[in-house]
Amino acid sequence: MDDLYYDFTMNKRPKNKRNKILFIIFLIVVISVVSFSTYLGIEYAKSNAKTQENIENGSNSETTPESKNDNLSNEEIKSIPKRIPIYTEAGIEKMNNVYSSTPENKRVFLTFDDGPSSNITPLILDVLKANDVKATFFTLGSRVVQNPELVKREYEEGHYIANHGYSHVYSSIYASKNTLLDEYNRTEEAIRSAIEVPEYSSHLFRFPGGSVGGKYNKVKKEYKKLLAENQVFYVDWNCLNEDASGNRTKEQLVQYIKEYSENKNSLVVLMHDAGDKILTYETLQEVIDYYKENGYTFCNFYDVIEYEEK
Ligand SMILES: [Zn+2]
Repeated sequence: MDDLYYDFTMNKRPKNKRNKILFIIFLIVVISVVSFSTYLGIEYAKSNAKTQENIENGSNSETTPESKNDNLSNEEIKSIPKRIPIYTEAGIEKMNNVYSSTPENKRVFLTFDDGPSSNITPLILDVLKANDVKATFFTLGSRVVQNPELVKREYEEGHYIANHGYSHVYSSIYASKNTLLDEYNRTEEAIRSAIEVPEYSSHLFRFPGGSVGGKYNKVKKEYKKLLAENQVFYVDWNCLNEDASGNRTKEQLVQYIKEYSENKNSLVVLMHDAGDKILTYETLQEVIDYYKENGYTFCNFYDVIEYEEK
């Protein structure tokens, strides 16, 4: 019995001790597991936050649309409907009256010929954009193929893209009906390719040197009929800054604008965005301010020629 008892008591004590040790080990394990899980959870949350931050900052693999284009985001460009001009009877009538309006509806069409140029056209576009003015660009095919991205920018910013022939060499473009049509068509093709709108057709031509006068006056009369047969409008101008005349000062350019604008309710203003027309850019804000102060509404040829939206 004693032995048994002894054994029992002897066994009992170490058993209690062992349980205590086991309990302590159990506690340590539980605390470790809980601590480790908590640590893992915090680390996971941290890494999640970091990924989110990277996405928001645009540093995670894909760049944000804004960083690809300073002017319009890709989403904004996609949301702009593509305007496709069409040749209609209503358009013919409005074009015939392009130089007339009432004193209550004074309007001005700013037009730029001979571009695009890599140095001047972007500056002019910046001024137009800052003032929310939509203009018309009579582009040269030979320059459209050199700076297609600028024509695309003009189009996407709501300006009207029109046709000023391909070469601007009078003896080439006015050689025959075929050469005139060929230059017109090659420029249309260059515009379509630049703006990436295969169905675009400007339907609007401006004769290099104007539609009247000069050595080619006689053939120009025939070419006007030819254009109409091919559903193409043409337009000259009734106001200009004389930026093509050379050796002008900024003050003179603005002064010409004011003189030619006097007593006219509908103005088609001839200017140029060729590479040497820095003064046209430098005076553009003043010209725009002058028309604003005198109550003119800015128009482009989308206000006259009808169009479809796609
Ligand atoms: Zn020209």
